[in-house]
Amino acid sequence: MQGLTRVGARQDWLLRMGAEVEAAHERAYGAMRIVHLRQTILVGLAVYNVYNLTSLYLMADIQAWTVFLRLCVLTPGSLLIFCLVPRLPEIWREVLLLPGVLVASLLPLLLLWQSQSPLATYTIGELPLALVFGNMLLVLRFRYAVPFTLITCGVAIVVVKTKVGIDPMLHFPFLVQIVTGAFLTLYANWHVERVRCRSYLAEYDARGRADRAERLGDRLRDLSRTDTLTGIANRGHLDETLAAWLEDGSEVLVMMVDVDHFKAYNDLLGHPAGDECLKLVAQRLADYARYYDGFAARYGGEEFTLIFQMDAANGGSFLADRVVKAVRTLAIPHPARTDGLSVVTVSAGFAGTQAGLPRTAGTLLARSDQALYEAKRQGRDRSRAA
Ligand code: GH3
Ligand code: MG
Ligand code: MG
Repeated sequence: MQGLTRVGARQDWLLRMGAEVEAAHERAYGAMRIVHLRQTILVGLAVYNVYNLTSLYLMADIQAWTVFLRLCVLTPGSLLIFCLVPRLPEIWREVLLLPGVLVASLLPLLLLWQSQSPLATYTIGELPLALVFGNMLLVLRFRYAVPFTLITCGVAIVVVKTKVGIDPMLHFPFLVQIVTGAFLTLYANWHVERVRCRSYLAEYDARGRADRAERLGDRLRDLSRTDTLTGIANRGHLDETLAAWLEDGSEVLVMMVDVDHFKAYNDLLGHPAGDECLKLVAQRLADYARYYDGFAARYGGEEFTLIFQMDAANGGSFLADRVVKAVRTLAIPHPARTDGLSVVTVSAGFAGTQAGLPRTAGTLLARSDQALYEAKRQGRDRSRAA
């Protein structure tokens, strides 16, 4: 109910939905509308010309005129609109229909007014057809259906009132017939147009909500996969990615990377400085991994994991050495070291999928961790294979 109220409030009394919504509606339904209009124009044109057969009997005095005006004015005019409908922007396409339907409804009234034939009055039967065509078959936008109906109705009343030869006794019944017929077709147009606008506004709102929910979902997923301190992938994202790579059967190289003597760094420079250092190292590792089409994550604490879809035997040591060098060349001062180096370094251990060993994340991580331990034991700032 609340949704309906909100939707209702977003279309004015002429059933206009606002520029942005109208544009979205056109993108979604413009092509369908064009097909509908073109089909209806052709059908209407055929019926219009068939109806002209009645003038052979009812307006014999101006028969040549009726044929000329219908075939040489209305028919080419309709065909011109038929050609322009798919080529014009929405607003002009809908405006263009108005003169088209007005000519179609006013032309028979003009002929009726002109004809001296005593039977001409019977051609008034064409008026409701024109109104049904414009308001209900073409379904003019309501904002154009209003002037169409009012002008047609007004001219019809003037014609009936001023036409020589119509019994004044018929004025009132004709007036009632014209006004009720016009009102009914306009009401039908309003009803159809209102349903169109309301259902589109509901659809537009639902799509907006779905888009927002999807964006929020994407954002939450990104957040849930991101390490809050360093901004690179977290352990969960690593587990997901590694599992997917192992599942699709590719060769996988896993590299565990640990910052050397980081406790001493923290102890001397403080935890905030330690955090800044971790961010710089993480960024360098992530850039490096991306450069080699790999993936980097913070495993926890001052440990990182890099994975690559490649065979560890071919290029594993090359990559691991480059990783170690990449961090060393960041040249982050590490004044707390006592091993002769004065910059932050990492040690790395790597292992790859290998025939005879289980293809599991657990095995790969454990083996590369073992290799990392070996690199630490052998003096740090270096890499070792499992
Ligand atoms: P090793 O060379 O053997 O790896 O020595 P280490 O000092 O780096 O290793 P250890 O495991 O003794 O210490 C790791 C330190 O990393 C301890 C902890 O304070 C620090 N650390 C872990 N997570 C964070 C963090 O998020 N921020 C900061 N600033 N320090 C962290
Ligand atoms: Mg460490
Ligand atoms: Mg550690």
